[in-house]
Amino acid sequence: MSLQEDKKRLIENLKALGYLKTQKVIKAFGQTPREEFIPLKYRDEAYSDTPLPIGYGQTISAPHMVAIMTELLEPEKTDKVLEIGAGSGYQAAVLSRLVRKIITVEFQPELAGMAEENLKRTGCKNVKVVCGDGSRGWPKEKPYDKIIVTCACPEIPKPLEEQLKEGGILILPLGEGWQQELIVARKTRGKLEEKDYGGVVFVPLRHYMNK
Ligand code: SAH
Repeated sequence: MSLQEDKKRLIENLKALGYLKTQKVIKAFGQTPREEFIPLKYRDEAYSDTPLPIGYGQTISAPHMVAIMTELLEPEKTDKVLEIGAGSGYQAAVLSRLVRKIITVEFQPELAGMAEENLKRTGCKNVKVVCGDGSRGWPKEKPYDKIIVTCACPEIPKPLEEQLKEGGILILPLGEGWQQELIVARKTRGKLEEKDYGGVVFVPLRHYMNK
């Protein structure tokens, strides 16, 4: 079966399972070639609903996770988004079709370089990849309408709360064990109002004190 057919089938499944909901997110998924964001040897697996290794002990998230997080972020064409954990760049590529601008922070320099290449090759011009410790956010471009963290945080990093606009949405996997809770928080009157969307599994956030 061709990758195009695999992709169509995956999207139909994600719709049937209720992970893909809105027309614009479905369209953004359809327009984003996941095969361009994974190592060549996994090309045939590009549209399996599973995480895949991208090197340095890291993974590209499973498509259903990208679908869930993208929908929960309620992307708008006017949004400036901060992502923590660029990884392959795939999540940012999906979002690039839905928002105005994305800054994505990656800890591992080699992965930052790879994400940048992948995004350039696939024509995602409104994404800027930066290298650093995302637990500090990216103050230079604040404030953000939305913030999405794609690695597990033991607690909500204060700088992220501070760099989020009033009314903005922050999504992150919260917890220290191998499994975390997916938290969606909206900044309301200067404080985060949190909702728990259940168990998820992400690679941990790393920082300079604790590589
Ligand atoms: N969003 C990615 C998947 C991310 S995997 C994708 O679509 O492919 C999590 C990524 O977070 C890894 O690449 C890891 O290196 C990165 N990471 C871990 N700790 C980080 C930190 N403190 N700041 C920025 N990135 C971090």
